[in-house]
Amino acid sequence: MNTSLTALARLERRLREVAGDVRQDEPMSRHVLFRIGGPADLLVIPRSIGELRAAIAVLFEECHPLVILGNGSNVLIGDRGIRGAVVKIGRGVGRVRIKGTKVIAEAGAGLPALALRTARQGLAGLEFAAGIPGSVGGAVVMNAGAYGHSMSEVFAAAEVLTPDGPICVGPEAMGFGYRTTAIQGRPWVVASVALALRPDSPALVQSRLEGWLERRGATQPIGRMSAGCFFRNPSGDHAGRLIEAVGGKGLAVGGARVSEIHANYIVNEGGATAADVLALAAQVRARLQERLGITLELEVKLLGEF
Ligand SMILES: Cc1cc2nc3c(=O)[nH]c(=O)nc-3n(C[C@H](O)[C@H](O)[C@H](O)COP(=O)(O)OP(=O)(O)OC[C@H]3O[C@@H](n4cnc5c(N)ncnc54)[C@H](O)[C@@H]3O)c2cc1C
Repeated sequence: MNTSLTALARLERRLREVAGDVRQDEPMSRHVLFRIGGPADLLVIPRSIGELRAAIAVLFEECHPLVILGNGSNVLIGDRGIRGAVVKIGRGVGRVRIKGTKVIAEAGAGLPALALRTARQGLAGLEFAAGIPGSVGGAVVMNAGAYGHSMSEVFAAAEVLTPDGPICVGPEAMGFGYRTTAIQGRPWVVASVALALRPDSPALVQSRLEGWLERRGATQPIGRMSAGCFFRNPSGDHAGRLIEAVGGKGLAVGGARVSEIHANYIVNEGGATAADVLALAAQVRARLQERLGITLELEVKLLGEF
């Protein structure tokens, strides 16, 4: 057996000691909304925040590269999959406590469900988030936002697991920017989040939330296999508007197509590969570069081997 296989087997054994759901060669297409992606050598799905903390501690101790997945709604995973271990922070790590206007949510809690629940309780601040199909942890890491609002407005603090131990990160250290935070690019894992909401009339909060959902339903390809907006908006403009302006709507490669409803969405029409998506994205970028001199950057995170 070669060294890396031995190391992986050892890692798997240690992870099984602390987490109940550890899978080998798991197709990642099952775990992301794009429904694209090859197998991960190891996939750990913690069933509680305790299992999450323990699994991450093992991975840090073993100095093992770490890929974290929330609800998989903003990622494209390569066709060759992910070498090493992926930790998917999902429903098992999804407990939520609400005390007054303060919400403590474990990272795997679903953002849309939390937005609905807090709206019903007359807590304002998450109305914009009801149609964002991420986990709370993923939404904080991405500083997800819509209609002029973003997670940074309601964020109070996060418990973050780091190779040096757990730390509490406040709003300043989080370094919020447009779809970015200081967590991105670091081996840090958001385990739970505290949000500060505002009291308001339940009827008003719910009607704002429903208004945003209606608008979203009319302008975005809801329910299709995608990773949300594929490109970041260039300063002062919208990637979707620009892609439409250069005739990008409907362009296709294999099973991947630029949505006819919203040009910044690439949708998997069935059987799309990551290679299809990247080839299509390259065509779109080339069009914008040639015709408008604008370079589009990816919003979607690329994970694994392509
Ligand atoms: C139909 C649709 C609509 C969308 N609409 C919007 C929108 O309006 N606004 C918007 O901003 N986004 C939107 N998105 C994108 C996406 O839903 C958000 O970015 C969401 O917050 C990502 O959360 P997630 O849990 O799915 O993260 P993932 O996609 O699983 O992960 C995203 C990144 O965060 C990292 N990550 C995830 N969880 C953690 C954690 N706990 N600790 C450390 N790192 C972590 C991952 O490693 C990855 O780099 C949309 C997506 C879809 C499919």
